[in-house]
Amino acid sequence: MNQISSGFLARRACRSTVVRYGAREIIIGGGAPIVIQSMTNTDTADVIGTAIQIKELARAGSELVRITVNNPEAAAAVPAIREQLDKMGIDVPIVGDFHYNGHTLLKDFPACAEALSKYRINPGNVGQGAKRDSQFAQMIEIACRYDKPVRIGVNWGSLDQQLLARIMDENAARSTPWSAQAVMYEALIVSAIENAQRAEELGMAGDKIILSCKVSGVQDLIAVYRSLAQRCDYPLHLGLTEAGMGSKGIVASTAALSVLLQEGIGDTIRISLTPEPGGDRSKEVIVGQEILQTMGLRKFAPMVIACPGCGRTTSTVFQELAESIQTYLREQMPVWKLQYPGVEAMNVAVMGCIVNGPGESKHANIGISLPGTGETPSAPVFVDGEKTVTLRGEQIAQEFQAIVLDYVRTRYGQQTVNV
Ligand code: SF4
Repeated sequence: MNQISSGFLARRACRSTVVRYGAREIIIGGGAPIVIQSMTNTDTADVIGTAIQIKELARAGSELVRITVNNPEAAAAVPAIREQLDKMGIDVPIVGDFHYNGHTLLKDFPACAEALSKYRINPGNVGQGAKRDSQFAQMIEIACRYDKPVRIGVNWGSLDQQLLARIMDENAARSTPWSAQAVMYEALIVSAIENAQRAEELGMAGDKIILSCKVSGVQDLIAVYRSLAQRCDYPLHLGLTEAGMGSKGIVASTAALSVLLQEGIGDTIRISLTPEPGGDRSKEVIVGQEILQTMGLRKFAPMVIACPGCGRTTSTVFQELAESIQTYLREQMPVWKLQYPGVEAMNVAVMGCIVNGPGESKHANIGISLPGTGETPSAPVFVDGEKTVTLRGEQIAQEFQAIVLDYVRTRYGQQTVNV
């Protein structure tokens, strides 16, 4: 019998692109860790509001933050946003998202062109007819002048209609025409690759270009990216566009991305969740991190292993402890990741009863097995596989949190770096 091996396929070989701000360098592609990015939903002209949301996204773990630059007011605000972020000590690179008028805004607002660390260009929204090529060329020329990388970001909601018509004509000439779906896939991929080649012809270095071809269907995204990955060696930005709200958005994004990531495809990801009204935009960052961490591709924060509970857990004590410890761990990470290197790899188990509680707790760095209904009201705690203490009474949550903090200080504090 053969040894069972990990299901991961090797990361796709591709060039790497560096996105810079000050001393901060984010490497995308070339086998570098997969980068998490996100996008604001504030009015970019609102300097303070946008800077605050960028700060929140960066603190949640977004390594690049994109902002829409859709009008002169937004373009004028970009340098002030950058300045505000600098004052707040936030050095996350910011990316400008341009549609329709990007060539004009970048030309008319050179401080905006300078302050951004990368430009996203949607080739379907650059212009029509004869203007299209010159407007695309203007944006590439400005990116070269300021030494900024670009993402050629195709989206099937805004596919270049001239190119689609050309691909359809080519298809009609085939002895056995492709399906409409296959023609659409082909148009997306050709749009991304041809525009990247055009950018290189205009003088942009190949290692300044990232591609994306976003669609909103899971099977469509998998099909498009499998083909795109084979047909070019640019780094790929991966994301299911318009994924939706709540669990549907999370499930659809996870289903699509995990298939591709498992095959080594994808160098940077964004989870396009629609927030609930008044909801937290940082959720999309956390979901992206959790996809990568649960797949074993990166580590961002200690993971809480918790059983689902069942008829043996009739009180809410177990759920409340699982939630409170998970929130506590995530809230500590901005400081812990500097003070306690390696803490992001820690596992904490919170289990509901004696059936799987002690066993699962022994596999974690720290685990607690709460008493199920009818069990003795005590909660054994396991540290590195050994039972160390049994907690009882009303203060179990606080006492367990103190044990976790003590473990973190002891286990990871030896490696403290200057902060
Ligand atoms: S560990 Fe106990 S409480 Fe949790 S799901 Fe299993 S049997 Fe139920």
